[in-house]
Amino acid sequence: MALFGTNGVRGIANEYIVPELAVNLARCLGTYMGSKGTVAIGCDTRISGRMLKSAAIAGALSTGLNVIDVGIVPTPSILYYVRDFADAGIIVTASHNPREYNGIKFIAGDGSEFSRDAEKDIEKIYSSGKYSIVSWEKTGSFRIDPGVNEYYVKNIIKSVNAEAIRGRRLKVVTDTGCGAGSLTLPFLLRELGCQILTLEAQPDGTFPWRNPEPLPEALTELTKLVKMTGADLGAAHDGDADRVVFVDENGEFINDEVLLAMMAKYIVEHEKGPIVTPVSSSQRMADVAKDAGVELYWTAVGSINVARKMMEVNAVFGGEGNGGLIFPKHQYCRDGAMGCAKVLEILADGEKLSELAKSVPQYFNEKTKVPAKNTHTTMEIIKNEASGLGQKLDTTDGVKIWYEDGWVLIRPSGTEPIFRIFAEAKNQERAEELLQEGLNIVTRAEKLSTLK
Ligand code: MG
Repeated sequence: MALFGTNGVRGIANEYIVPELAVNLARCLGTYMGSKGTVAIGCDTRISGRMLKSAAIAGALSTGLNVIDVGIVPTPSILYYVRDFADAGIIVTASHNPREYNGIKFIAGDGSEFSRDAEKDIEKIYSSGKYSIVSWEKTGSFRIDPGVNEYYVKNIIKSVNAEAIRGRRLKVVTDTGCGAGSLTLPFLLRELGCQILTLEAQPDGTFPWRNPEPLPEALTELTKLVKMTGADLGAAHDGDADRVVFVDENGEFINDEVLLAMMAKYIVEHEKGPIVTPVSSSQRMADVAKDAGVELYWTAVGSINVARKMMEVNAVFGGEGNGGLIFPKHQYCRDGAMGCAKVLEILADGEKLSELAKSVPQYFNEKTKVPAKNTHTTMEIIKNEASGLGQKLDTTDGVKIWYEDGWVLIRPSGTEPIFRIFAEAKNQERAEELLQEGLNIVTRAEKLSTLK
């Protein structure tokens, strides 16, 4: 039984993600760990968070695990804590999903997200229903640690050039969307000597102002306030603050792919080493790597794939084109607050964010999605057809077809019955053309798949 999607177990709270599920998943973890060790358990600001966190705590204790309740925390904050103080962790979060959702994600002892193999082991235990329930005197110990976010913020400050940032006294508007980042980002910026204006900085699981996903259209208030106050930049998180996106000093949204390449460029200019990104990312990353003379590794989509590859090749930076930036010297996971601190470090040199964004190569990106009926068969047909085109192919995740002047990627979604199609080219017209080409390939293959 496949419980885990691209990012943990997700669904509507109290419908699919019910307390019983949280109890049993935590019991799976206890069973997996042989009823030994300490786990940190936390949640984001969602209304159902405390209910599910309490259930997970009960489940873990019943298998003899010792539990540290870390309260409301961003995902990168609990990951950092687990690495330093626990043997594993559970975070109750649905990241950027709408308000009614929640989810459960496991954290490995090294502070990384659980690997696919470990998730499969958990699924096996779950399907068997056989948990290591201990006798009464062996149930786990429990304590609360209220200092987790403070510890996390302190360590981000140590990982950037805080002196230089403080010297600039940057004016920053934050929009933490009433999510878990409300408890970290404003405090981090205060410690970094910024002048701060906060929007939606009260933790509130009804997400009264915007959806937890920081899409450009959801950030109109942030844009307005940056312009009104003459701020240097605006920063926004998703619900669990592992992602960060920006608007520049003119209130213009910084394209996620531009942000990723801009950060990669800055890092490899200071430290030579490989960089890692999923196949869905922009050619900008390849250009940055080529210019700096460093290796670029493409992975399957999903931050865990990027992080694992980074460990393997000893990368200096990695990330996804959705505001998910990974700084291995800090930790091997997407970290929104760390990404923000790093952007401030770049700005401390005196440049403006809009100028920095212009310093990376320009490309045009298009994407769309179409419903998938016979995902597997269709994908096989697409692979066959693509290999007959005589173009360079990459089948790391779906099918990516490279042309001389751009590429198109077709991949089945890991969470929904859809195909995602991405295209990129040096001009808008060609990007649209390539997207259409991708659409045609999918439509033809879907038709053929029904004949099989
Ligand atoms: Mg997230």
